[in-house]
Amino acid sequence: MKYKCILFDLDHTLWDFETNSALTLADLYETHQLQKRGINEFADFKKVFSSINTDLWNRYDAGLINRDEIRFHRFKNILAHFNIADEKLSMTLSDEYVLQSPKKSALMPHAIESLEYLADRYHLTIVTNGFEEIQGTKLASSGITHYFKNVVTSAKAGYKKPAREIFDFALAESGFTHQQAIMIGDNLQTDIGGARNANVDTIYFNPDRLVHTETVTHEIYDLKQLIGIL
Ligand SMILES: [Mg+2]
Repeated sequence: MKYKCILFDLDHTLWDFETNSALTLADLYETHQLQKRGINEFADFKKVFSSINTDLWNRYDAGLINRDEIRFHRFKNILAHFNIADEKLSMTLSDEYVLQSPKKSALMPHAIESLEYLADRYHLTIVTNGFEEIQGTKLASSGITHYFKNVVTSAKAGYKKPAREIFDFALAESGFTHQQAIMIGDNLQTDIGGARNANVDTIYFNPDRLVHTETVTHEIYDLKQLIGIL
């Protein structure tokens, strides 16, 4: 086996961010009676969240805004979209979302069987731009903490993907060279571009089969394909 260490992204790669987020938003929509506040359809609430959240995370990944700004702007911008000016409600939704969402347990299809196979054969490390306590909660609530020997967050490493330093940090902590590692992730900029910056081979997890022009070592659309590659 050429590789000894597998670096795994967490959100959208193992932990099913879309499903877990939607479940949390449904709770918030219900609890805070957002329909009565003028958000007539839950589907609209979910759609606007997704668009605003993706935009904020792209700006966070690019180093343009920090974690507090994501939290501060996310629900404020969503409510503003529906012409609701209620600072208190926006802060409450923000706090509850951050608290509740990581406690949801949905994983991407075939995550467990792939991890079962890989954990017997490789040293598994999480490399994530998420926040320390939140990512720890997600791993625990979805029951996959024990598969990983290390969890490296950007907060712990002091650098975010795509900076090569977070990969260097993860490999130093795991005790492997760049040649012994391969990175699996769903984001072409942070996971794939970052691993390339660090001279680490890549597996692009592309469940939506997006068209792209990046150079990747392997590409998969289902996690169970890892069993054929590794
Ligand atoms: Mg991801």
